[in-house]
Amino acid sequence: MSQAVRPRLVIMGRQGAGKGTQCELLAAHYGIDHLSTGDVLRAAVAEGSELGVKAKAFMDAGDLVPDELMTDIVASRVGGDKGAAGFLLDGFPRNVGQAETLVEITAPDGLHACVNLDVEESVVRERMIARGREDDTPEAIDRRLQLYAQETAPLFDFFDSKGLLVVCNGFGEVEEISTRLISSIDQVIGS
Ligand code: AMP
Repeated sequence: MSQAVRPRLVIMGRQGAGKGTQCELLAAHYGIDHLSTGDVLRAAVAEGSELGVKAKAFMDAGDLVPDELMTDIVASRVGGDKGAAGFLLDGFPRNVGQAETLVEITAPDGLHACVNLDVEESVVRERMIARGREDDTPEAIDRRLQLYAQETAPLFDFFDSKGLLVVCNGFGEVEEISTRLISSIDQVIGS
C-alpha cells in the first residue's frame, strides 16, 4: 500500500482572502505543518523579541519586513529534511527574491504546488475593514494591497513557469472553498 503523500505547498492570496481559516483546515486534512510568517512576526512583536522589535514598524506601516529577517524563519521550519513531513507556507514568499530563496531552501524536493486563493480586491478590502485588526488602518490596507499587486502578484508567473500554479476561486462558503482546495491539491499530488 502506498503511503499518503505529505504535500509541500505555498498558499497565496490577498490579505483577507480567508487564507488563515483555509490553512487550518488544509493542515489538519493533510497532517502537515502550517507556517504563517505573519503569525510568527505578530508573536515576536508581542514577545518583544529582537525580531519583533525590528519588524514592528514595517508591519504597522503595511510594508514588507526586510527579506533577510524572513529567511531564517522559513528555513528553520521547512528547509532541508523538514520538507519530507510536508508543509503549508502562508505569507511567504511575498516577492520574487523570497521565491528564489524558497526554491533554494526546499531543494532538491521542491514544492508540489503554489495555490492562489483568489478573491477580488473589493471583497478583501471590505473584510479587512470589518475585522479591525490593529494593523488594519485604511492607509496600511491600501499599502498592503498595492504591495500585493506590485511585489507578490508577479509570483503567479514565477510559479506558473515552473508548472506549479493552481488557481482556486476563494469566494463562497468556508466548506465549499475547502472542498475545492482539497480536490485541486489532490489532483496535483496524485491521490
Ligand atoms: P500577514 O499576516 O501574512 O498578512 O502578515 C502581516 C504582516 O507581516 C505583513 O503586512 C508584513 O508586514 C509582514 N510579513 C508577513 N510575511 C512576510 C514576508 N514573507 N515578507 C515580508 N513581510 C512579511
